[in-house]
Amino acid sequence: MVKLDKDALTKGVALITGATSGIGLGMARSFAAKGYDLAINGFGDSIEIDRICRELETDHQAKVLYSSADMTNAAEIETFVSDTITTFGRLDVVVNNAGVQYVSPVDEFPTDKWDLVISVNLTAAFHTTRLSLPQMREQGRGRIINVASAHGLIASPNKSAYVAAKHGLVGLTKTVALETAEFGVTCNAICPGWVKTPLVETQIETLAREHGVTQDVATKEMILQRQPTREFVQVDQIAALALFLSSDDASSITGSAYSIDGGWTAH
Ligand code: NAD
Repeated sequence: MVKLDKDALTKGVALITGATSGIGLGMARSFAAKGYDLAINGFGDSIEIDRICRELETDHQAKVLYSSADMTNAAEIETFVSDTITTFGRLDVVVNNAGVQYVSPVDEFPTDKWDLVISVNLTAAFHTTRLSLPQMREQGRGRIINVASAHGLIASPNKSAYVAAKHGLVGLTKTVALETAEFGVTCNAICPGWVKTPLVETQIETLAREHGVTQDVATKEMILQRQPTREFVQVDQIAALALFLSSDDASSITGSAYSIDGGWTAH
């Protein structure tokens, strides 16, 4: 049997936030499969998180650092980023993916939920970015990828905090791109449409309950009716775009917001 040379396989180190579920977990699997070592965080059952880390290490020979950092806590984010750099000695890709949703009319929006949505979806990306850039500048190369949303480009009713946070994240992306363009660092946003993850499954359940319809009807008539393909975007498709943006071929792409939404924002 051929023994794998671990060092030869390592493409770099990717820090992916919110990688215990959905899009972030898919990104972690795809980056590990391409030879990246990983620093990940996210909430969840500790046994399941441990299983995910072992899976990434065993299936893809990736080194995996897991952090329990809460993305609403600047000090914990700082420890997460500095532990990553200390452990691996470098940091090549940061994927700001952790996110939460809360749905309510703006005049009834609970202020604590507003703060939470802005904090996880926007402020956390500011912290990881400011803390990672010195290392990336020193390396002369780096990639920051912000998982925004179709809601970073257009709005929907009852999602004021999420839409504001994702529009803000697209704005942050452009500013960081301008500030880093001469240092070999790029910063781009990915704007997915509907992806079937726990974040969306909760919304399907709520819509079905509120309208007295099955989840299948809620999915087809209330969720996918905005997505012209009438199909969910696949996690692997988003991960493939992130991998491309991380590659050398994408070195001239910066400050962009990439829609991957089945045509939603073409309306
Ligand atoms: P998900 O709920 O499956 O995963 C969210 C991840 O973020 C989890 O790992 C969770 O533990 C983590 N997280 C949440 N709050 C955190 C906190 N305070 N600290 C640390 N980790 C935290 O959701 P998803 O659909 O995979 O969403 C991932 C990203 O994609 C989000 O930014 C979301 O806004 C964005 N997005 C999702 C969709 C979609 O249709 N699912 C569409 C567009 C954009």
